[in-house]
Amino acid sequence: MKIARFNGGRIGVVLADGVVDVTAAAGVQPSQWPPVGPVVMIRDFAARRPAMEVQARTGPRIPLSQVHFETPVPWPHKLIAIPVNYEAHAVEMSSPAISRNAGFFMKSSASLTGASDAIVLPDLPGREIHHEAELAVIIGKGGRHIDASQALDHVFGYACLLDMTVRGKQERTIRKSYDTFTPVGPYITTADEVGEPTDLQVTLWVNEQVRQDANTRKMFLSVAQIIEMCSAVTTLEPGDIIATGTSEGVGPVAPGDHVRISISRVGEMVLKVAQGKRGANVAIPHNLAPRTAEALS
Ligand code: MN
Repeated sequence: MKIARFNGGRIGVVLADGVVDVTAAAGVQPSQWPPVGPVVMIRDFAARRPAMEVQARTGPRIPLSQVHFETPVPWPHKLIAIPVNYEAHAVEMSSPAISRNAGFFMKSSASLTGASDAIVLPDLPGREIHHEAELAVIIGKGGRHIDASQALDHVFGYACLLDMTVRGKQERTIRKSYDTFTPVGPYITTADEVGEPTDLQVTLWVNEQVRQDANTRKMFLSVAQIIEMCSAVTTLEPGDIIATGTSEGVGPVAPGDHVRISISRVGEMVLKVAQGKRGANVAIPHNLAPRTAEALS
């Protein structure tokens, strides 16, 4: 099942000929704040699924042209990310700090956006802002100390994810947490439709030029091993999102670009890149040069 969130917090099942609104069957209230309905739906999915499937078969189709895809899980308990999970990307970043098993870091959940939203670049002249194409794992059944051999039973589904990043020496979290820096979508494809996540092709284009193209079999840590590692430290909850790391080919984006990400059996989305007005701060200043001169004086 392909489950989208759209048009103001509604839940939809995505079919070949459009989207069917299954909000009521999913038990989600679109106007609820905080918007934790999708997390509860994921927790209760086994019980909710039959009614959602009936509605999907019988409900009216909404054409894709009338669907604004929003981020599928807007208020997850955690947004976890794996730093470097493909050898060729470790080589291109050529940092001694990057190891085969560097653990994980956190991004702000407020950086989540959907497939129909723009990536808004902070105004940081001279700083490169890169795309990182990644497979997103959405946790279905939570837990602690999950063994890798059982880990895929804890996966609700998968989605495309972009881990947008300001390059530089500041902490990863601040460089990767700007609003709109974690597009997820266009929907969650449930794990039963994806099968083994060990041979998924993850491809990214900027303005229709291929920049990243790698298979998840090249991951240092598999999805199952990632879940084992994360849950050894922190209790995973339904709806938690894990960005599983990027491959080689990362590079800068600019306002006006179109970024397309496709993952086999999972989905595809295209995002516009726009220029924002602000975003500089004491840690990531607007212009490094005067600040350095000031520090030296
Ligand atoms: Mn990343």
